[in-house]
Amino acid sequence: MTTLARQPQMTQAPTTDTPKVAIAHGDGIGPEIMAAARRVLDAAQAQLDTTEIAIGKTVYEQGHSAGIAPESWDVIRASDAILKAPITTPQGGGYKSLNVTLRKTLGLFANVRPCRSVAPFVPTKHPGIDCVIVRENEEDTYAGIEHRQTAEVTQCLKLITRPGCERIVKYAFDYARSHGRKKVTCFVKDNIMKLTDGLFHQVFDEIAPLYPDIEAESRIIDIATAQLADTPERFDVIVTPNLYGDIVSDVAAQLTGSVGLGGSANIGNHVSMFEAIHGSAPDIAGQDIANPSGLILAAVQMLNHLGQPEPAADIHNAWLTTLEQGIHTVDIAGESTRHKVGTQAFADAVIDRLGQSPAHLQPVTYGSTPQAGAEQSAAPGTPTRKTHKPTKQLTGIDVFLDWDAPGRNPQQLGEHLQPLAGPDFKLKMITNRGVKVFPGGFPETFCTDHWRCRFTAADAATPTHAAVVALLTRIHDAGLDFIKTEHLYTFDGKPGYSMGQGE
Ligand code: NAD
Repeated sequence: MTTLARQPQMTQAPTTDTPKVAIAHGDGIGPEIMAAARRVLDAAQAQLDTTEIAIGKTVYEQGHSAGIAPESWDVIRASDAILKAPITTPQGGGYKSLNVTLRKTLGLFANVRPCRSVAPFVPTKHPGIDCVIVRENEEDTYAGIEHRQTAEVTQCLKLITRPGCERIVKYAFDYARSHGRKKVTCFVKDNIMKLTDGLFHQVFDEIAPLYPDIEAESRIIDIATAQLADTPERFDVIVTPNLYGDIVSDVAAQLTGSVGLGGSANIGNHVSMFEAIHGSAPDIAGQDIANPSGLILAAVQMLNHLGQPEPAADIHNAWLTTLEQGIHTVDIAGESTRHKVGTQAFADAVIDRLGQSPAHLQPVTYGSTPQAGAEQSAAPGTPTRKTHKPTKQLTGIDVFLDWDAPGRNPQQLGEHLQPLAGPDFKLKMITNRGVKVFPGGFPETFCTDHWRCRFTAADAATPTHAAVVALLTRIHDAGLDFIKTEHLYTFDGKPGYSMGQGE
């Protein structure tokens, strides 16, 4: 197993202010590209106090199903950052995704992926692309709360929280400001998911005015992704919920010409993790041909995050200079290639060009660059606004049934349920997969064995919990199988639930 002893990575001794970085070598090409990235960091005089941790295949094989040695957690929790090479996840056998484990356990709420073309040195149809995807990293359907509810129907809970939205939206604007970017675009589908994506959009609209120096716009995710694929240069920073961000960030990375060149950051309030987008590439491991660019650019993101913009810019500009001088690894070799080099020789070329700026490609500058008159915000990603506590009132209940009577006739189910509503409720409607089928449904509507039956309060009085339990008892005693309930609340008088389609 890899030693856990601290290994200073710098010429002078680390001080208490030197950021602590856990280094994970990973599997496959991981150790090779990590060696290359660390030599570049050293040569650029990055101030890092590093400790190696064991993750990946050998750790899985030792019986740790999460792929991380227990003692590595202590190192990570004492660190400011993790620089992580890709790992090989064994297939089958109940192994967990280490990335998901790290993200959730450490609260890495923001996934940040810069996607910038280096055309013509790496060919792309979109030489103008230069955008950053800021993806919410913990919530949405990735909360992983799923249930099979009937023979035919499975469910995944999409959780969008106000603090989660505030944190990621604020992070996106802070990132834009500190990286000299001009616009933040919100990607959501709130024309359909009015409550969940609607909350994300609403929080975006609340936070955007705090950043008058940054343009803000919101777009529906489907057409926005089409526009991204067509004319990506119209976008700058994009902020979006988890699932959309997962897809959109791969689309954007591919538009630069190669996902193999991308780095990504997973930002948390305590520790943050930096890695290449690609995997462990076991097919080319040990041959000194892997491209270390993704991990080098992840290291650039890490240095910026740790408050070292000078070595970050130095490395990035040396990397751009290396590419435009035609020094390429085989995976990106093409018409502009003058020297095909291996992994370590590529790192040497970057090291040789530290201090140089590219002649053709746009050089990068890093550093905190808030504009004059702009409001200074608190720590990135920290929600700053007070949340009003709304008045919550119960007005009804959705009762979900597993019902598979021959013919699945909604009229029959409705007539069975109506007398069960009792004195406290009335049966408002029944939906199947969200479509109203009673009263007055269409025979064309396809019905599964999963029915939502909406009971609303019979009068203005708030139903008691005893009334809800009595309703469920009547439904059960009538031979119907209720499988879950959702309470219908209003918040400050506004419904906190969606209508049925056709209601
Ligand atoms: P991969 O990204 O490892 O490889 C896909 C293809 O791209 C291969 O042909 C590979 O040779 C090439 N490639 C990848 N990185 C390259 C580089 N830096 N230089 C040159 N060529 C490169 O994807 P995969 O084959 O689907 O996955 C291999 C393993 O990596 C799997 O076990 C998977 O679970 C794991 N993986 C890990 C991470 C991570 O740790 N973050 C991410 C993705 C995949």
